[in-house]
Amino acid sequence: MASARTKSVLHGTGASPGIAIGTAQMVDRSRLRVLEFPIEAGQVPVEIGRLALALDDTRRELLRIRDELAVERGAEHLYVIDAHLLILEDSMLVREVTGFIRDEEINAEAAIRRFTRKFLEHFSGVDDDYLRERGRDIETVMERLLRHMTGTPHHPLPRATGRCILVAHDLSPTDILQIDATQVAGFVTDLGGRNAHTAILARALEIPAVVGMASVTSALRDGDLVVIDGARGIVEINPDSETLETYQRRKRLYDHQEQELTKLRELPPLTPDGYRLRLQGNVEFPEEIPAITAHGGQGIGLYRTELLFMNRDTLPDEEEQYAAYAAVIRAAAPHPVSIRTLDVGGDKLCGALHPGDEANPALGVRAVRLSLREPELFRTQLRAILRASLLGTARLFFPMISGLPELRAAKSCLAEAKAELTARGVPYDDAVEVGIMIEIPSAVIIADLLAREVDFFSVGTNDLIQYTLAIDRSNEQLAPLYEPLHPAILRSLKTVVEAAHAAGIRACICGEMAGDPLYLPILLGLGFDELSMSPVAIPRVKRLLRRCPKEEATKVAARALTCSTAAQVESYLQGEIASRFSESFD
Ligand code: PEP
Ligand code: MG
Repeated sequence: MASARTKSVLHGTGASPGIAIGTAQMVDRSRLRVLEFPIEAGQVPVEIGRLALALDDTRRELLRIRDELAVERGAEHLYVIDAHLLILEDSMLVREVTGFIRDEEINAEAAIRRFTRKFLEHFSGVDDDYLRERGRDIETVMERLLRHMTGTPHHPLPRATGRCILVAHDLSPTDILQIDATQVAGFVTDLGGRNAHTAILARALEIPAVVGMASVTSALRDGDLVVIDGARGIVEINPDSETLETYQRRKRLYDHQEQELTKLRELPPLTPDGYRLRLQGNVEFPEEIPAITAHGGQGIGLYRTELLFMNRDTLPDEEEQYAAYAAVIRAAAPHPVSIRTLDVGGDKLCGALHPGDEANPALGVRAVRLSLREPELFRTQLRAILRASLLGTARLFFPMISGLPELRAAKSCLAEAKAELTARGVPYDDAVEVGIMIEIPSAVIIADLLAREVDFFSVGTNDLIQYTLAIDRSNEQLAPLYEPLHPAILRSLKTVVEAAHAAGIRACICGEMAGDPLYLPILLGLGFDELSMSPVAIPRVKRLLRRCPKEEATKVAARALTCSTAAQVESYLQGEIASRFSESFD
């Protein structure tokens, strides 16, 4: 029944864009209450036996859901269930939970809770959203396990009737896969973050969602009218008719724009005067690969391999890495994949590879510096990439190169890795292209020297801006000073392209600048050959590219380079884009 229909507006984290309008349907996903109590020593084997049974039941349940989903939705998103099955099958889980039961002499449910808490504490200290959210996957699986242990069934999603908005304390990735998109317009949750699998899937399946709302479940009742603005993270409850009309209008506009953008998918990334700028996707995890094709990209311009190394106590061996790279290369074929060698250190921590305490980690032992200190590890990664490249087209590139000796040392590790494979009689792609990230000012200044020794440059504008302007890229207080259009950055980009082209090699960009249409006329005008960005950014960049003649962009870039501040460049660009290429930014 409808509630008192109190009007209110709540804010959370926009997890998946789009506007959804529907009636609230509450889903009970509250956490189980678990009591902890001591057990007799003789009871320990009984509790361990209960744990083993519950693990078995949970596994069977996940396999059943997996089979059902495979029939209903095909194979594309089953990796989520596979990831949950892997967590269940991890020997550490059984070891640690059994350890709690035996050493603390407590019941199995409490031992599972302790294990989960320990894990989440570990993850909460990690300065990486993606990894923190992986901790939540473990929480989801443990909750399912607890339900089996306590005989409290995990309710399937209620059958939605009419267009509804699901409202829950939390929703698992499995819940999202089971959503019937003809009935469910969107969802809102108390918990969750942008990088959780739940949010990633919502974006992949284009279901508008707002998460991390703290107490949306207490603010809503079944039957309330709800409007979600998934891009802005806004939830309107029982809006008045005027607000509702505004949202209905915006929804029509949004849906229309999305349809128009989808039409671009098959169109080539060409300017009206015939210049081709390859648009690619950046990926951190394989789940993102289908989104590149779905958004009309051609291959992967930056595959960040560090996630394979983080979130664990041991390092991945050659076979594990080979399997991961092979999967990505196969999924992207026939398009190329640019694989960046390990870039940990700085703000990306890896438990198994700690450079020790450093006063200044951003300027410390990170990226290729760390790889060069661990040649065994480095060659293992290089061998895995070289082998996997036979399955398609891989290019490999080194992060944080600051000078020639570093580049030469990295290339000699590559030569050794090839020699090792040859000695083992293992086939590999000898012609794999080798490039470097340009993300340190010294690399810009000697770009001409570096260009003679590599096949391509890829500018990492995120770090290049950080190091050129001396602005910590993750310091919120300094955010206004982090200026991509700073004249120093524009001049650096010009230097890099010119040095690359003088040496006959490609100049690419894989930092965030590549995905913002505002910067496109400059990047195009300067002559970049490839832009790699978050997959969802591709359609808007492509749309502007197809309206923006290269010749005009060259003039815009030249003029922008005469401006003396970022603010001047920005207002000049806004004006030019609106008047010359009839595009606006709202
Ligand atoms: C960059 O620095 O621009 C880049 C793409 O690398 P990361 O963001 O992984 O440091
Ligand atoms: Mg970088």
